[in-house]
Amino acid sequence: MNILVINCGSSSLKYQLIDSDSKDVLAKGLCERIGIEGSQITHTPKGGEKKTEQIPMPDHVAAVDAVLAKLTDATVGVVTSLDQIDAVGHRIVHGGEKFASSVVITDEVIKAIEEVSDLAPLHNPANLIGIRSCQKLMPGVPMVAVFDTAFHQTMPKKAYLYGLPYEYYEKYKVRRYGFHGTSHDYVSGRIAQILGKKREDLKIIVCHLGNGASVSAVMNGECVDTSMGLTPLEGLIMGTRCGDIDPAVIGFLAQKEGKTAEEMIDICNKKSGVLGLSGGVSSDFRDLAAAEESGNELASTALSAWSYRVAKYIGAYTAAMNGVDVIVFTAGVGENNITARAEIMSYLGYLGVTVNEDANCVRGEEVEISTADSNVKVWVVPTDEEMAIAEQTAALV
Ligand code: ADP
Repeated sequence: MNILVINCGSSSLKYQLIDSDSKDVLAKGLCERIGIEGSQITHTPKGGEKKTEQIPMPDHVAAVDAVLAKLTDATVGVVTSLDQIDAVGHRIVHGGEKFASSVVITDEVIKAIEEVSDLAPLHNPANLIGIRSCQKLMPGVPMVAVFDTAFHQTMPKKAYLYGLPYEYYEKYKVRRYGFHGTSHDYVSGRIAQILGKKREDLKIIVCHLGNGASVSAVMNGECVDTSMGLTPLEGLIMGTRCGDIDPAVIGFLAQKEGKTAEEMIDICNKKSGVLGLSGGVSSDFRDLAAAEESGNELASTALSAWSYRVAKYIGAYTAAMNGVDVIVFTAGVGENNITARAEIMSYLGYLGVTVNEDANCVRGEEVEISTADSNVKVWVVPTDEEMAIAEQTAALV
């Protein structure tokens, strides 16, 4: 089955056309600056060249139209007609408490996604525009919504409730939801497969370390805790997000700096994390490593604070599960940053983790990076959220 996977943001749209049977990525690409001057599409057909072209895209319908034109183009296309696209899988950021798994999109599903939009005001409306644009241009093609929050819906109340008056949970559904669920689900499933065990029989900690980053604890085959919260701001120190802080900091700084709560949250989301901690060096770990190398102390501090936080979460989730069998690193930094992985593992001696330093030199591959006699196994497993979305879409339609 050919599945078009769509990840639609407010001014961008990422896509992949995947053959869910052969697991082939037939084409992938990105539309940028939708609705702004200078919009462009970058398209890469399988085995072909990556090409960027300026195309006017005043709205998302125009963007989806441009994507479909590329996919069916006589030279850079990969299918001859739209009939060869069997279904569309949409990445939806927030499913609230309504969605614990992926669903076929119906009018009721769209309404329910709208209803939880105030929990993700930057993301869900953009995701919905992506659904509507596809429905307009591909009428009758089945579509599936795959939620970032769904995998975490199995968390028990003790893990998802905040220590706030209970009425806020009842009235507004303020609680921990967690994100990157498709990745945590895929990676925890994949590691069980690699180890030749059932996921149900393993205690797994997944460290999804990208620009956005989160850790999850998976036990009895289900997510029992995760570090992101009501929004993706909580938990680890990230590229530009602060992660856990004392909530009183917001009020304190708002007063000192004459800012509104909204402006403070914006700073916590976009100007904090390793970018902010390093005094503005970069949110990108390659730049930070280069700066550290050339003696930049703040870059070094930012990287230490970042790995320390990951190590603390691993400790917390080991306690939550009363043990851990396997720790998995994934996403941009987790898959590629050898030094960051080594630094995190340097905290795990108490668990009996011993590092295989040669194996840890690998980037972007499935590899065991602990030694054969390590008490807890540590692995790198590259995530593939698009493939997971395509598989779930194919299964549902
Ligand atoms: P997101 O999907 O949240 O935007 P990614 O998972 O793509 O983030 O991760 C981006 C991060 O991965 C960047 O900080 C980047 O430095 C890091 N990264 C990607 N490739 C490499 C590499 N080869 N070596 C070190 N770090 C890398």
